[in-house]
Amino acid sequence: MHEFSIAMDIVDIATSSAMKEEATVVKEIEIEIGQLSGVVMEALEFSLEAAVKGTILENARRNLIIVEGKARCTQCLTEYDTDTLFKPCPMCQACAPDVIQGRDLRVKSLIVE
Ligand SMILES: [Zn+2]
Repeated sequence: MHEFSIAMDIVDIATSSAMKEEATVVKEIEIEIGQLSGVVMEALEFSLEAAVKGTILENARRNLIIVEGKARCTQCLTEYDTDTLFKPCPMCQACAPDVIQGRDLRVKSLIVE
């Protein structure tokens, strides 16, 4: 499952940054998920549940934030919201979007102790 390896990466990233701060417990983790990242939210939550077992993230509150997709038309430069990578421009109907937001998945912040 795609989401499981993503969950493992999140745990790795969070664990190493918590270690850098000499934290022993992570209280909260904030994760940003782009609407266009291709990640299935439910699958990711389920995978995280398993991936945090036995790590310092085990009891952390997980805050998953969806980042909306945004594209810029490469023909007329209109910016518009999109939930797919191929949505045509609402102004000129060209199907040449340049995705400018919502593609990434990242650990935004950690609250540690
Ligand atoms: Zn356009």
